Amino acid sequence: MTTSVIGYPRIGKLRELKFAIESYFKGDKSENELLGLAKTLRATHWQQQVENKIAYISSNDFSFYDAVLDTANLLNVIPKRYQQLTLPELGQYFAMARGYQGDKGDVHALAMKKWFNTNYHYLVPEIEATTEIKLVGTKPFDEYQEAKALGIETKPVIIGPLTFLKLAKLPAGQTYQSYQAQIVSAYQNIITKFEQLGTKWVQIDEPILVTDLSKEDIQSFEQIYQAILPTKGSVKILLQTYFGDIRDCYTNVIAQPFDGIGIDFVEGKESLNLLQQYGFPSDKILFAGVINGKNIWRNNYAKTLPLLAQIKSNTSKLVINTSCSLLHVPYTLQNETKLTIAQKAYFTFAQEKLLELAELGQLINEVDPKQHQAYKTNQTLFTREREGTNQNVRQKVAALSPQDFVRLPEFNQREKRQKQTLNLPVLPTTTIGSFPQTSDVRLNRAKFKKGEISLEHYTAFNKQKIAECIKLQEEIGLDVLVHGEFERNDMVEYFGESLNGFIFTEKAWVQSYGTRCVKPPVIWGDVSRSKPITVEYSQYAQSLSNKPVKGMLTGPVTILNWSFPREDISNKESVFQIGLAIADEVLDLEAAGISVIQIDEAALKEKLPLRKADWHSEYLDWAIPAFRLVHSKVKAETQIHTHMCYSEFTDIIKEIDQMDADVISFEASRSNLEIIDVLKQNNFQTEVGPGVYDIHSPRVPSVNEIRQTIEKLLNKIDKQKLWVNPDCGLKTRGEKEVVASLINLVKATLDVRLGL
Ligand code: GLN
Ligand code: ZN
Repeated sequence: MTTSVIGYPRIGKLRELKFAIESYFKGDKSENELLGLAKTLRATHWQQQVENKIAYISSNDFSFYDAVLDTANLLNVIPKRYQQLTLPELGQYFAMARGYQGDKGDVHALAMKKWFNTNYHYLVPEIEATTEIKLVGTKPFDEYQEAKALGIETKPVIIGPLTFLKLAKLPAGQTYQSYQAQIVSAYQNIITKFEQLGTKWVQIDEPILVTDLSKEDIQSFEQIYQAILPTKGSVKILLQTYFGDIRDCYTNVIAQPFDGIGIDFVEGKESLNLLQQYGFPSDKILFAGVINGKNIWRNNYAKTLPLLAQIKSNTSKLVINTSCSLLHVPYTLQNETKLTIAQKAYFTFAQEKLLELAELGQLINEVDPKQHQAYKTNQTLFTREREGTNQNVRQKVAALSPQDFVRLPEFNQREKRQKQTLNLPVLPTTTIGSFPQTSDVRLNRAKFKKGEISLEHYTAFNKQKIAECIKLQEEIGLDVLVHGEFERNDMVEYFGESLNGFIFTEKAWVQSYGTRCVKPPVIWGDVSRSKPITVEYSQYAQSLSNKPVKGMLTGPVTILNWSFPREDISNKESVFQIGLAIADEVLDLEAAGISVIQIDEAALKEKLPLRKADWHSEYLDWAIPAFRLVHSKVKAETQIHTHMCYSEFTDIIKEIDQMDADVISFEASRSNLEIIDVLKQNNFQTEVGPGVYDIHSPRVPSVNEIRQTIEKLLNKIDKQKLWVNPDCGLKTRGEKEVVASLINLVKATLDVRLGL
């Protein structure tokens, strides 16, 4: 049985690509050096797949920043503002990704959004009235040929036309259908070009097909592929879907003359039903996604082999595939030196998943796979109980009752009391929590972790940083301060490290956006808190100022969503366990005199199921209560903030309000403040701080710019409910730009206040 991989991590075993790109940004590496390193990485990644006998290896899954951005460049979807900079190609590419501020001009980056239900972010293609979609780039062809020169026949992967158009931002008044003809012709050219190169297979990714589709969408899908497929000639086309099932269009998809169709059997709850109900054409290959591309737990062969057998009985040609690109899991387990052998046995990262593919490919051909060593070894993990059960926590979760999820008094009364006790000016200014993690901060942590400095030394340094940070914020004139989060490597890892039930990797990085990677903890067992986590630093920070300093916590849903979740208990059970632990921390902070506590739910939106029908039953019905559980026992005077990255919560605005926080800050600047109309329409009661500038870009916003943004916000939001803040934490930014930006933020706010 042959095997396939949808995509491979591109960042490198030890994040080589990240470091190379970052030093290129700093001017320490030349473009040629960067291109050279990229080439080496691609070769290594292909070679590894060859070694594991993967039959269908992807090319063009490499990217310097993001594959959607690559596709926009390939298709000439380059807004004028970038073209006008007249930068060299790579410079223009990065200007689109990160914005540009220099001798050639000053432009914002493209909007950035989460890629379906992952923590990966793509850049939103921006089609302008004058844009002509056409094939202008060569990247997929170059990379295909590069592999070929190494003797490796790959299947180039490109993002499909429907997914691209549906994710793109369109000129006002246009529908994506108006660009259908143009994009079809571009894809016809792409395929013809591949045919000329002798390419055997091209993989076209259409993850949009797993979302709710309208009749018009399905019609567009049919029209697009009816026009593209006749040009394929000798090239075989694999239509690849992932992140769910294609229940809205299964029959339409299998009716088209694709040569292969990739279906996700991990997240696609309905995939097997669809296959059994409607069958699968005998002239096509089914690429069955059974190796989880999103989680790191070892595949349970006792479940997957029968699944594969069922799939096989409904198709004549089968290829074993990953469920989605392996981009969403870390690179290799080989770098992990601190996990025990027993723990490591439970995991597979990208490289090890290649082996799982190979093993499954062999086992499925065996008459009695259970007799094989690979099967037996695999089963030792699933037939014995894992360590990490905590009966006490399980009982607490079981005993939760409705009032544990309700905070009293209700919002309006709390708001009044908080206005009196906190006595903040109108349009209070604040930040989201973290301040730049400068090299001295990271060095201090690294030394402590290596045991080179004592805990006292480590803590003293952090306190020194906190003191400087408080002083800086007072000088800048912010109203509600933060301690700066210098003690935190990452907002989830930090809490995971202090709670029971988590385990940590050393090098298991996963790309989040551009060069930014995250290292999610693993929820290994039942979660509990044995002692206060943040109280000492928070209390210290508060002792240095008469202004409120926010206690800063990460919420249970975000901790769950940014960890690798368990597969042996439900997410609901897991998130309530975490919620109970964080609730204890909230009460400890309150008791220590912290009057404003921010509980970040940066990732709340992330795991919202892709289909509306599943939103409540599979997610919101436990995610919103999990947040309420965390703050339901605090006093009326204690102000609870929350923060969310990305404001794409238009459709769940009521549920966000029902989290019953007192204040919520969120990203808005990079999505054009679209959210604020929705807040008004829904009579949103929670006070809001829509980020007034984009922190994902190094550019410094001017006073004028921020003032205009605040004024725009005031048109829609009651001044009594509006806060002024950046749109996310500042840890990834440089100190200088942060200080300059915050000075401008405060100046702009003071200006606006004068006019109120
Ligand atoms: N408090 C966190 C910080 O400021 C929030 C980060 C986030 O939302 N991603 O870094
Ligand atoms: Zn954020």
